Amino acid sequence: MNEKQARSSSEDRVWHQLEADEVVAHLQTNDDDGLSDDEARRRLERFGPNELTGSAGRSAIRKFIEQFNQPLIYILLIAGVVTLLLREWIDAGVILGVALLNAIIGFVQEAKAEGAIAALARSVTTEATVIRDGEKHRIPSSRLVPGDLVRLGSGDRVPADMRLTWVRNLRVSEASLTGESVPVEKLNRPLAADTPLADRTNMVYAGSYATMGQALGIVVATGDATETGRISGLLEESADLSTPLSIKFRRFSRILLYAILVLAAVAFAVGIAYGDPWVDVFKAAVALAVSAIPEGLPAVVTITLAIGVSRMARRNAIIRSLPAVETLGSTTVICSDKTGTLTRNEMTVQSIYAGGRTFRVSGSGYAPEGEIRTADGQTQQEPDTALRQCLLAGLLCNDTRVHLHEGAYTVTGDPTEAALITAAGKAGLDHRAETHANRRLDTIPFESEQQYMATLHQAGDTRLILVKGSLERLLERCDRMLDAEGNSVDLPREDIEREADAMAARGLRVLALAQKVADPGLDDIAHQHIDGGLVFLGLQGMLDPPRDEAIAAVRSCRSAGIVVKMITGDHAVTAAAIAGMLGLQKGSDRAYTGREIEAMPRDELARAVHESNVFARVAPEQKLRLVEALRAGGEIVAMTGDGVNDAPALKQADIGVAMGQTGTEVAKEASDMILTDDNFASIEGAVEQGRTVYRNLRKAISFILPVNGGESLTILVAVLIGAALPILPVQILWINLLSSVALTIPLAFEPTPPDVMNHPPRNPREALLSGAVLRRTLVLSLMNWMVTFGMFEYVLTTTDNIDVARTMAVQTLVIAEVYYLLSISSLIPATLRRLRGKEAPLATAPLMGIAVVFVLQSLFSQAAIANTLFHTVPLTVTQLSLCLLAASPVILAAGLLRRFDPIR
Ligand code: ADP
Ligand code: MG
Repeated sequence: MNEKQARSSSEDRVWHQLEADEVVAHLQTNDDDGLSDDEARRRLERFGPNELTGSAGRSAIRKFIEQFNQPLIYILLIAGVVTLLLREWIDAGVILGVALLNAIIGFVQEAKAEGAIAALARSVTTEATVIRDGEKHRIPSSRLVPGDLVRLGSGDRVPADMRLTWVRNLRVSEASLTGESVPVEKLNRPLAADTPLADRTNMVYAGSYATMGQALGIVVATGDATETGRISGLLEESADLSTPLSIKFRRFSRILLYAILVLAAVAFAVGIAYGDPWVDVFKAAVALAVSAIPEGLPAVVTITLAIGVSRMARRNAIIRSLPAVETLGSTTVICSDKTGTLTRNEMTVQSIYAGGRTFRVSGSGYAPEGEIRTADGQTQQEPDTALRQCLLAGLLCNDTRVHLHEGAYTVTGDPTEAALITAAGKAGLDHRAETHANRRLDTIPFESEQQYMATLHQAGDTRLILVKGSLERLLERCDRMLDAEGNSVDLPREDIEREADAMAARGLRVLALAQKVADPGLDDIAHQHIDGGLVFLGLQGMLDPPRDEAIAAVRSCRSAGIVVKMITGDHAVTAAAIAGMLGLQKGSDRAYTGREIEAMPRDELARAVHESNVFARVAPEQKLRLVEALRAGGEIVAMTGDGVNDAPALKQADIGVAMGQTGTEVAKEASDMILTDDNFASIEGAVEQGRTVYRNLRKAISFILPVNGGESLTILVAVLIGAALPILPVQILWINLLSSVALTIPLAFEPTPPDVMNHPPRNPREALLSGAVLRRTLVLSLMNWMVTFGMFEYVLTTTDNIDVARTMAVQTLVIAEVYYLLSISSLIPATLRRLRGKEAPLATAPLMGIAVVFVLQSLFSQAAIANTLFHTVPLTVTQLSLCLLAASPVILAAGLLRRFDPIR
């Protein structure tokens, strides 16, 4: 027996074999009150945090070696080796050095980007509900210890390995552990010792998810001692850095590779035909190969994406997968939840209907300050029986708390329920006293698909079921109504519906309340107990106003050609009223309901999802149908969600957006992006950033490629006409790897252009080199060739000194780049705006890039060591001025392009 086995068998109790109370005894805990705070602290010290230490995914060495596995680097390596064979030691050293440097830069960049994304993802901590000292707390999962009593609800991530002690319809998805995709039903009976992991129905394991129901369990293992920790030990979140762009990029590199090989072969053949010495022919071929490779571009792309990710994080959008950064920029439809995302999620009951009468409620916020008056203005000091019972049901059938903390009322739980507590408070009903007097025996929790919640109470001598939920679902279960004096009377269905419609038309969210006297022996309630025979108590209508930022963001989306669709579980009339306030849809447009969507044939659905912007009473599963229909119509869809059952729709959407505050772990796990503030405006902000990133990438690409184009043309023409090489391979490498990169990186930092949301979304299928990018690459390649080649030939014929001619050619090319940077970046327009006293972001990055290049190029021609390594000579001020002047035609060309063919 090896050491590992020995350790696990001594530590391992066969938890699933034991009775629940044996587990409790072994772990010295309590299955009602949990551990004490002190004991938990001691155990945390002893067992350490509930985290996987993990080990590195791919080894660092392998990642480093993989950096060389790129076609363009092969060429560089071959060029280096050939140069080595030619015994050009210095040149070979420089070329191979560049290949190495390139790998180092790529390695460091990649590690940084991966680290940043992983850190962001980790910054969204998982919480667990633990019972300690008899009180429920939400604590970070990392602080759980063996013996802790943990409560699981639907949507929770199982935070540690646990033996279940109490189970209620619990289903757990263990796909990550066992590969079984169908959620498993859990029980709390002991099992045979040899039961395999997948069949241990009384255990739940860290990393799986509760998809339904509720349970209590005792933590038996945490951190690396959990099954997940043991199986893998390396559950490293390794961020995938490949994006649609990087895929296009790889394709582009391959094409470039073939082009380079063909060109090099041509150069070779031409050289041989001219009867040049072999060595020169080789050198020319190498020069051509090296000139065509944009060595700095991959690093620039990674940096630009990484900057986008961190800017989005600053605006409350945490990116979980890098491709989302790009996809966001081409989003055409955003499907958003209403409650809490488009609205403030600050609910205030404004209207109550009970006992056949309508009441108005004054006051705002969660302070129980305000009055309940009848329609004719009478205050209700002593509420009548129906009103009282309606308020009481709202108060008791409720899992939320409203606390008074430092003078402010704060809510733990659901704002919808908090509003009900506040409304009851306004009529003098005390939460604590009433919950005490009507002890709760059992609960059916609220779930979006059922649209109701029910509780069982011991109210005096009677067992009373209280129900609250949507009117549709409650009214069909009611047959009587409580009147003002407390008598049960006929149900005035039409009046109730008319009243509810009137509330909804004002944008109020309507909750219906009902009760039923149950069998005195009833201890547990199930859905069948409230299938019928309920007594209707009343309606409460609450206002949840749109967020101001959401109104502005919707407007901005509209000008950006992005359609915003509201998808909500709320009533169609309420949804339409709120949509109107947000400017989402015209009054004439109709809202569809989830049920209608369900029943529609494909083609009709395609039309409906296109036409309407409001979908109400949508159950989470129906969201999936909506996403699919939209995507089938060619839309790029961002979709929000928070519940367990939203996960499929989030996965299916191009961008799944989970709510950071109210979202379940399941939804977060399925998402591409998490909103830390649950605010619609943050989605719009992320789209804006996504567009900026893409525009900056295009700028960077159309900045770097013309340099390679200019260099290649220069070499190619020289070879074709049998002239000497105007720039040497090592000089080209210097430019490509240092000066060009220093000038391109500032483009990654370009601020969001003011017009970024004034254009329709980009077509994601568009080629990398298309439109403005292609035209720039062509025009500026020609310009760069002209100034470089022209300078070289001029100096060579006038001075007959080839080293001076080459040094000046290089300086001219780099100066041309600086001019081009000035024209493509926002430095000059922003400075002009600031001079005119207008607001504009300060663009310091281009200035820094230019300063760096100034230093680099001064060293290049003036430093003795560079003279040796790069075959350069020091230049005079006159010569440098000539370079500055000779490059100036680029200003004109780039200026014209900026004016007539801008990059979007
Ligand atoms: P959304 O969050 O999109 O507004 P929900 O699915 O939360 O939609 O709510 C749908 C309906 O269920 C609401 O219109 C309301 O009638 C009812 N409802 C909402 N919250 C609760 C709750 N906590 N208890 C009972 N019923 C609720
Ligand atoms: Mg909700």
